[in-house]
Amino acid sequence: MTRSRSSLFVAAALAVAGFSMAARAWQDGKPKVGFQDTPMLPGGKWHVHDGTRPQPPVVTPGTPSNPEAPGKAPSDAVVLFDGKDLSRWQVDGKPPGWKVEDGAMVVPPGGTPNGGTITSKDEFGDCQIHVEFATPDPPKGTNQGRGNSGVLIMGRYEFQILDSFENPTYADGHASAVYGQYPPQVNASRPPGRWQTYDIIFTAPRFKADGSLESPAYITGLHNGVLVQDHVALLGPMTYRALAKYSPHGPIAFQDHGNPVRYRNVWVRELKPVE
Ligand code: MG
Repeated sequence: MTRSRSSLFVAAALAVAGFSMAARAWQDGKPKVGFQDTPMLPGGKWHVHDGTRPQPPVVTPGTPSNPEAPGKAPSDAVVLFDGKDLSRWQVDGKPPGWKVEDGAMVVPPGGTPNGGTITSKDEFGDCQIHVEFATPDPPKGTNQGRGNSGVLIMGRYEFQILDSFENPTYADGHASAVYGQYPPQVNASRPPGRWQTYDIIFTAPRFKADGSLESPAYITGLHNGVLVQDHVALLGPMTYRALAKYSPHGPIAFQDHGNPVRYRNVWVRELKPVE
């Protein structure tokens, strides 16, 4: 047997062994995987590698966007805007006056009826948010007056949108800042007019039965795929003073700051605890 034929033989033998091991992992039509004689994990519910622990739900991943066309959302996402219409949005309970142009939803000119901050009809608690946006090109204005909008999580926590490309402003007002609280770790902005992405993981605040704060809201965020907010805890006083009116769910909103910022490919995944 030549050396290469010998390797082929070994590979084939291993494949057969692997197949028979896999076959033994199933018995009587039921999966028989993992262990139950291993140490218990903290919490006392599951063993290490526990074969009875529920399988993760299967999600078909989305596809990435490119400058010409938006990608596709994952199969379990709530698609809030797919380039066609604003049926999942409202402004003060009325159909929004925002425009839909070339597959994008656009902040309308000042004075447009039902302009202003646009709010999703759906409400969310813990969630993963994907938003694509483009600031006006050519740029107009400076500082906070240039390409300003914002993703308002639960309608109140602003993940800032700004044309921060070569546009000095205060640190906690830049694009991807948690506005007024946390500057982004880096400025990963693209030039005006280019599509940019935000991927935000939001943990809603928790409250005790008496309404006092149990744990704050947390935000992790990526700007154009670059980590900019790493599990930052949102600061207290405003949230705390709002407790009386607070609910554990809220809408996603986009700020109308008077600049014609465009949005596309907006989706949200509701996050549930893993067993
Ligand atoms: Mg803003």
